[in-house]
Amino acid sequence: MEQTLQALSKIDEVLTKRPLIISGPCSAETEEQVIETATRLQKTGKVDALRAGIWKPRTRPGSFEGVGTKGLSWVTQARKITGLPVAVEVATAKQVEDALHFDIDILWIGARTTVNPFSVQDVADALRGANVPVLIKNPINPDLELWIGAVERVAKAGIKNIGLIHRGFSSYGNTEYRNAPMWHLAIEMKRRYPDTMILNDPSHISGNRILLQSVAQKAIDLDFDGIMIESHIDPDKAWSDAKQQVTPERLAEILDGIKWRSETTDQKEFVVALEKLREQINHVDDELMQLLGQRMKIAEKIGEYKKNNNITILQTNRWNEILERAAKKGEALGLTREFITKYYDAVHMESINHQNNIMNS
Ligand code: PEP
Ligand code: MN
Repeated sequence: MEQTLQALSKIDEVLTKRPLIISGPCSAETEEQVIETATRLQKTGKVDALRAGIWKPRTRPGSFEGVGTKGLSWVTQARKITGLPVAVEVATAKQVEDALHFDIDILWIGARTTVNPFSVQDVADALRGANVPVLIKNPINPDLELWIGAVERVAKAGIKNIGLIHRGFSSYGNTEYRNAPMWHLAIEMKRRYPDTMILNDPSHISGNRILLQSVAQKAIDLDFDGIMIESHIDPDKAWSDAKQQVTPERLAEILDGIKWRSETTDQKEFVVALEKLREQINHVDDELMQLLGQRMKIAEKIGEYKKNNNITILQTNRWNEILERAAKKGEALGLTREFITKYYDAVHMESINHQNNIMNS
């Protein structure tokens, strides 16, 4: 009988596992280090694929830039010993060719490559005709279109199995993260590509060991399909990203510490309770919307008044007063100052636009 469904290749099948865990060192450093990391990771029984950076894109020259092509045979050796598939980062056509030549199972495009359409196109052209899964990290800057553009370029090159990796975004000013997660962007990407696997990379978001657990937990709570996380046999001595790497044994503890949740359940009681709570949320949201509409109508009236009396739209003191009052009230209700500020900024902008329309009409 004719087979209508094409059988999944072995690696495509590995990538359907949930949660999917990919781990390994930031960089391949020596053959021994790659093999020992792989063996110890495999021993945990919790890792589905190995990762290792062979070519390292570094912000400044003079840092360790990866061992280069010779590292590919270390990685394939680690695969042979552990039976685990292997993933490496590619950033140029030559790197793609080399990785394919060594039959690397999974390729990923790094954040510093996704950001540049020329580089992504170069990689995509080299991938044409290859049957290899490609994971695409978000670009370093918070621009969803660039991320989508990279997915489209790789898809156009004929790559069927594309996955996403959320590794956080560069942001101006200090945050507690090395790369701010900006979860809403990853959620929007999930909404746009509902059938595409999305992993979280807590290592590059955190930039340190302390935050790894909570970032990974958050990703799982948000229904990510798995995580890619760095692991090193001697993290403090790692040649790159030392601060954020953990030993394979510590990684196992982190994974054990995660509360795994599933998106859905068949339990009737739970489904009914959830349905009720969701109805309540819808109801509250509708009310909020009504109130916001009313608020804008009042803003328009103020606009008319200001227009008739020739007063500027923005009166800084009044605005500071509103913000301060809201932050205090919000805090008493368990809302963070950060949220209140963002929310009021958005509401304020909308109010100004409404007033502007009135004053210039
Ligand atoms: C990496 O995975 O080691 C890496 C370089 O990551 P990113 O592209 O997210 O900076
Ligand atoms: Mn790294």
